[in-house]
Amino acid sequence: MEFAFASYDEFLEEYKIYRLDECRKCKGRCELVENDITCIIENRSLHFNTLLVLRCKKCGAIYLPEYSKQMINYAYKTAVKKNQIIGVFHSKEYKKKFDYCKDTDFDYDYKDYYNIPGLRYDDEHSVEGFLTPVYFEKGALVYFLAVPEYEVQIFSDSYGYFAHKDSSGMYQYDWNVPFGFNTNGKLVMWLGDISYMDDKTRAILKGFNVSSDHLLIDSEFYQAQMKCIFSEPITEYKILLNKKTFIANINEKYSIDISHLTDECQQQEKKVKRPVVYSETEVTEVINAYDKILIEGFDVSKMKELYEVMYSSNERDKSYTSWKSIKLIEAILNKLAISIHNMDIASVMSPLYVLHDYRNLLDHLLSIDKISEKKEHIINTLGVQNFDDQKTIYNEEIKRLNILFNYLAILSR
Ligand SMILES: [Zn+2]
Repeated sequence: MEFAFASYDEFLEEYKIYRLDECRKCKGRCELVENDITCIIENRSLHFNTLLVLRCKKCGAIYLPEYSKQMINYAYKTAVKKNQIIGVFHSKEYKKKFDYCKDTDFDYDYKDYYNIPGLRYDDEHSVEGFLTPVYFEKGALVYFLAVPEYEVQIFSDSYGYFAHKDSSGMYQYDWNVPFGFNTNGKLVMWLGDISYMDDKTRAILKGFNVSSDHLLIDSEFYQAQMKCIFSEPITEYKILLNKKTFIANINEKYSIDISHLTDECQQQEKKVKRPVVYSETEVTEVINAYDKILIEGFDVSKMKELYEVMYSSNERDKSYTSWKSIKLIEAILNKLAISIHNMDIASVMSPLYVLHDYRNLLDHLLSIDKISEKKEHIINTLGVQNFDDQKTIYNEEIKRLNILFNYLAILSR
């Protein structure tokens, strides 16, 4: 790729323009990528074997980001000083380190901080480098998901938070930082946020640290963090988002579409909202909508197909062909969670059985004995004293559904 400027002044004109993450030509999103760049200024030809540029993902247009222009400017001045017409510049091994996490030597690229639009124009933090992206293998999240003192919550396809619970019980968290996934499946967190973590967590994270691939802009994480276009949805809605993410992940990984009755699910989603007075009718309506979406909203035959892909013929349960949604989800989760040794599958799966009990309660032909039996089962499962305490039942059920679908969304990645 070649950039030609008739004069140094013309280059300075370009230097003044701050290139944004949005393509000026087609409004597509640009990502930072390494490119072989020749920059001609007047009669001097400056060649960079790897220079970071902003490339539009839609139309391919290439723009020079701020720090790369600074490098070109420096190279031009050097060429003038040395009276060179042709200059060749190789990327140096120099790795600038910011004043964050000095004790843990995280691998990151300081050039990302200076080149990715917006990151260095951060008014909130006085020490330079806070919003430097640090990249990790996604396995880090799976690791922390399995340790009870941490909380990992994903609330969209690729954006969530990672927190350490406060052991003193004074606060909810010792620290709580956002994370995202880039389009390459890498986990990303800000260097400054990582500095809030305790030494032990940082040491564990270090083991998952990988070099920057510079991809960040086309992620919900960056878009939300830079533009505040996204706020954390209420738990009720998070569950629905995570169900969709789970289905999308499975489809991408196994080419099996396990969604079912999509239109019906959309209708039911309108009924999902946080109850106001927590009457039995109000709670039952929301719970029943969840039953339609989270149990009937899965295609049983497609899930059996997935089960057969995940389990070899000698691993399969003898009676799996007669299984319905819940058993199949349980088996799928079991397989996905293979690296998590201490997961209490029965407890994680329990909210789906509660949905099932609620569904039976709505069956008007049920005898009085059966009704009290179902109610008893619901309160025992959720650890609630009394069926009349609908608010506690509801909150516990939502909390557990959130845990389950959070697992499914993260582990299926
Ligand atoms: Zn474009």
